[in-house]
Amino acid sequence: MNEYTPERWQFSLFHEASHFLLHPVGSYLEAIGAFDDIMERQANIAATEAKMPQHWVRKLGPEYKWNPGLMAKRFDVSIQAMRIRLKELGLPVLY
Ligand SMILES: [Zn+2]
Repeated sequence: MNEYTPERWQFSLFHEASHFLLHPVGSYLEAIGAFDDIMERQANIAATEAKMPQHWVRKLGPEYKWNPGLMAKRFDVSIQAMRIRLKELGLPVLY
């Protein structure tokens, strides 16, 4: 079951807003039929950066002792999303 939490909903909103900002209307509409994987990844990257900016994750990590549970609360995301973000940035993931 795909749980649709407020965090998930907010990520989807950022994802769609990223499409709007990154992809000109023409190419967006053209792509609706066979949506481009690259456009999807771009929107996911932009949404992730909006929710968990790399600069702030790196800066606040030591303060939160790299605890993904506490950091997830700070960034208002799921613990799973926080763990993935820490791993993809090559940062410590404790607990
Ligand atoms: Zn999309």
